[in-house]
Amino acid sequence: MNEAVPGAVSADVVFDSLAFGLAVVDADLKVRLWNRWMARHSGIEAGRALHADFMALFPQPLPAGFRLRLGHVIEYGLPAVLSSALHRSPLPLFQEPAGTGDAAPARMVQSVVMTPVAAMDGNRACLIQVSDASHSIRRERILLSHSEALKRQVVTDDLTRIHNRRFFDESFVLALQRVRRSHEPLSLFMIDIDYFKQYNDHYGHLEGDRVLKRVAAALMTQMRAATDVFARYGGEEFIMLASGIGAAMASAIAERLRESVQALGEPHVQSPVANCVTISVGVCTRVPQTDADGQALMAAADAALYRAKQGGRNRVAVD
Ligand code: GH3
Ligand code: MG
Ligand code: MG
Repeated sequence: MNEAVPGAVSADVVFDSLAFGLAVVDADLKVRLWNRWMARHSGIEAGRALHADFMALFPQPLPAGFRLRLGHVIEYGLPAVLSSALHRSPLPLFQEPAGTGDAAPARMVQSVVMTPVAAMDGNRACLIQVSDASHSIRRERILLSHSEALKRQVVTDDLTRIHNRRFFDESFVLALQRVRRSHEPLSLFMIDIDYFKQYNDHYGHLEGDRVLKRVAAALMTQMRAATDVFARYGGEEFIMLASGIGAAMASAIAERLRESVQALGEPHVQSPVANCVTISVGVCTRVPQTDADGQALMAAADAALYRAKQGGRNRVAVD
């Protein structure tokens, strides 16, 4: 039947209209089909590709993984999928027609499916479908970075951008587990701004927020080790955890924390203890072995802070 069926569309027209690559490679690895998408993204026209040796068609050699799978399809009739996660860019294909635009266009991220098909001569051929996976890779990356940003947000204080109480609580549990094995001491610093209610009343809440940020930043500079944890614990309260230092060192660090805030020189005319914003610090160093020891460490640091307040504020009290 040579007569064209009315309304029929030629297979070539269909292949050339596809928004993905279609190629057929026969048992001798000669190219038997090369649609327009393949020509466009490889820079190799159908006229040159057809009947050419597929392995020698591209300027660069094809990766071993691709060649291996192509061989399996033709030899054993095993279909193969090369996902873009494992095989980013097996063929030298580019998003824009090769040779246009940038000097060195980036290779397209590809998703490749190879299917065994029967050739007219009874041999097996391989149908290769290639699609552009750049968009899905980009989407994946965006989703990943969003989820990382969300994770960060959950443990960050909105105002001061330092860690929040949730982060501290989680870190404290981990630190307790760690020192149970290592028997290192843990030092806990409880920090509270002096007469901050008066500060807000006098200067306004917005000024109060600004000072909170400055105090957080000043205290942050006193962190010494990557394992130290520093967080905003509540309104105008901060907390710091350090490991592996003795009580004397902890006491010296607490004093440095106090000095760092005083050195900001933020005026506080309503403070009965100084002419600037100050903090009180309670510090305790222990070698906690149980969760109860951990709770006792917190309580002792809190009690020390209370004593620093009672003792006149703008000072350090050591448990
Ligand atoms: P003390 O020296 O005993 O600590 O006195 P204080 O006034 O600092 O203590 P108190 O706990 O009575 O008051 C804390 C104040 O901190 C009350 C609240 O207005 C203020 N505060 C808490 N969180 C924020 C905040 O996010 N922004 C501002 N601007 N102020 C806050
Ligand atoms: Mg307070
Ligand atoms: Mg206070």
